[in-house]
Amino acid sequence: MLSKKIQAIRGMNDLLPEQSPLWQYFEGKVRDLMRRYGYAEIRTPIVEQTALFARSIGEVTDIVEKEMYTFEDRNGDSLTLRPEGTASCVRAAMEHGLLHNQTQRLWYQGPMFRHERPQKGRYRQFHQVGVETFGFEGPDVDAELILLTARLWQELGLMEHVTLELNSLGSLEARAAYRETLVAYFEEHHALLDEDSRRRLTSNPLRILDSKNPDMAAMLDAAPRLMDHLDAESRDHFAALTAILDDAGIDYVINPRLVRGLDYYSRSVFEWTTTALGSQGTVCAGGRYDGLVEQLGGKPTPAVGFAMGIERLILLLETLELMPAAARPSLDLYVLGMGEAASRAALLLGEELRGALPELRLQVHCGGGSFKSQIKKADKSGARLALLLGEDELAEGRVTLKFLREECDQQSLSREALVSALPELLAD
Ligand code: ATP
Ligand code: MG
Repeated sequence: MLSKKIQAIRGMNDLLPEQSPLWQYFEGKVRDLMRRYGYAEIRTPIVEQTALFARSIGEVTDIVEKEMYTFEDRNGDSLTLRPEGTASCVRAAMEHGLLHNQTQRLWYQGPMFRHERPQKGRYRQFHQVGVETFGFEGPDVDAELILLTARLWQELGLMEHVTLELNSLGSLEARAAYRETLVAYFEEHHALLDEDSRRRLTSNPLRILDSKNPDMAAMLDAAPRLMDHLDAESRDHFAALTAILDDAGIDYVINPRLVRGLDYYSRSVFEWTTTALGSQGTVCAGGRYDGLVEQLGGKPTPAVGFAMGIERLILLLETLELMPAAARPSLDLYVLGMGEAASRAALLLGEELRGALPELRLQVHCGGGSFKSQIKKADKSGARLALLLGEDELAEGRVTLKFLREECDQQSLSREALVSALPELLAD
């Protein structure tokens, strides 16, 4: 009987063993950074009630209109695979009283789901690292988030390859007033608007500013700027943020067309972009969302956060060949035994060495086979040393060490000498 092989869902990727070292390297850097800045990890479910995202992200955003994986649970509830992390974070923080009379610095990591057209740097299951802070009015904490990301780029060797773009969306009131000015401008230039933009004219006109259509570029550049219509408080907030960045020596460009795709932002918004990845150039994006907690039924709570796309950062590290050799995992020692008794002894010797030398990266050959086939496996494993246990060695209480990467004669050692000799042989 022939049956069609089942394949992964389009736009959802397997992470294969050869790719995982780079992911682990990146994730390790992030985890370490968060620890050093005093951010606590939060993990929330991948599935939430659909209403959470509809209410927070906004009904007329791309995400809610056409990108969500929404389905009915067996009992008829509408559930959605999370398309982003902020809404879940806010829900969890409210639900567990984390916002009550206290500040929070949280971070998370995990898969997100959006039904977009898959292409390089754009997938249907992708991964984000995100940070959310609650209870800080800023602009000091806005700056902290930017400094934290800048440090990450520095440590990954990416700093020269990314640009920081900033804008302020002002208060909700200022934005509502600006919206009218903007719509009036677009109506004047209605003939130049593409179909998508005409549709957005009534639903989400600010998003038109974000259009990548080159035919609209000149008209959009000449559009009235939100930056010129800010309320006084937002203007001061933004000026204070840029002053900190200036003092810290962080370069940025002010991009008046940076509006972000999610409805909940107010005041500072920022993106880190790169030109090295083609059109999927935003590697990290975030901003302030002071209204969201209240919108979801909590007490008014200032908040600011960001999310970065792990796939895009991994692509960037690959493109620029920025993974340090030291971060590549490899074995120190491959243990092999010739014949049944020595094979059994090899397995136990492996355990003994792991107990005595906890840092040692060691693999014991499994499955028997000829010396030739075992040494081939040892070589393929990437280990620096092979430890041979044959019948003679077993009888004499000795082992033979063979250097797999260096021009060095093999050595015969007593079992007792092994534990002290190995660290020296593997040094540097
Ligand atoms: P874009 O403009 O690229 O569609 P976005 O504004 O939808 O991004 P956010 O919702 O702010 O993105 O998500 C933050 C980051 O997550 C993005 O900057 C990007 O690095 C990453 N990201 C977003 N959508 C995807 C996707 N479909 N595949 C891979 N990474 C993504
Ligand atoms: Mg998008």
